[in-house]
Amino acid sequence: MVEAIIVHKAMNIVDPVRIEKATKTTASSNHPQSGKKQRTRKEPFHHGRTSIFCNGKVVTSSDYWWLIGTALVLYGPIVLYICTQSMRVHEVLGWWVNFIPLLLAMGTSVFGILAACSDPGILPRHTAPREAIERNEFELPPNESLVYHELNPEFMLGKNVRLPDGSVQFWKYCNTCELFRPPRCSHCSFCDNCVLEFDHHCPWLSNCVGRRNYRWFVLFIAGVASLCVSAVVIVSLLVHFESKLFNTKFHLHAKPWDWIVLMITSAAGLTLLSLTVYHLNAIRLNQTTAEQVKSGRSGANSVSKNPGFMANCHRIFCLPIPKRMINWKQYKTGSDNIV
Ligand SMILES: [Zn+2]
Ligand SMILES: [Zn+2]
Repeated sequence: MVEAIIVHKAMNIVDPVRIEKATKTTASSNHPQSGKKQRTRKEPFHHGRTSIFCNGKVVTSSDYWWLIGTALVLYGPIVLYICTQSMRVHEVLGWWVNFIPLLLAMGTSVFGILAACSDPGILPRHTAPREAIERNEFELPPNESLVYHELNPEFMLGKNVRLPDGSVQFWKYCNTCELFRPPRCSHCSFCDNCVLEFDHHCPWLSNCVGRRNYRWFVLFIAGVASLCVSAVVIVSLLVHFESKLFNTKFHLHAKPWDWIVLMITSAAGLTLLSLTVYHLNAIRLNQTTAEQVKSGRSGANSVSKNPGFMANCHRIFCLPIPKRMINWKQYKTGSDNIV
């Protein structure tokens, strides 16, 4: 909550909804037919490649149809196997064994949908229009100052924010979104948005992974990894007990379907387990994937303070998710919006 207040204050945002309304009012008063509902392409707010559904409750990227492919690849083989082999599992291992992968698939679907359909922490655009800054019409609070390029004093790089403890934070300026972005925030080139604590853009979920949906993303990959492990264990036990029953060898008894499921789930399970371990390590280091890539390139650690693994887990998984910075209810999908 405190971090959200600091971000709001330093971005000169007291209330994102109020700012958006104020900008909208300016736009309509400049329009010759102000007051009338009509579509315009030159809006002060442009939401990149973002798709909005259900009155702003669902926010995802414009490639949301990729989710269908993800669902088919992840759950197709397992659901098909359960549907065709459930009686076999029921007779050899017990009826309840069929429910383990089904429950895991349902749980991970919920986490996947939450990760794919949540606003990852997109910052509102045009909170610091470059034109206004160049004309000296943009006012900064007393604890903030603009930073210019050393060799080209005309070129503004960002601003320095003096925090209450006396330390100074650099906020880089995003030329696309026209805003000062806080530390740990990056611009996603796929969604064309600046995202708080940007981790990466996930093509499988067709959404950015950032401050607001990182929890769901980690639970999703851990859930799918568990689903794959459960499938490997169930199929192995099934074939093992059947081969004992019929007094044959494991590899001779296993049917083609068993091998296909074993191969797919083993490969997917290993990949997802590695990914889960990677993200648990990133939580331990208090770093995002974007920061790890940057620190790997420069050799420097981008995070100065690390409260420790348990404190980081508590912040990511237990604390309430910060409020959205944009009132998506007011916008339509894409760059058009109603004024
Ligand atoms: Zn940006
Ligand atoms: Zn993205």
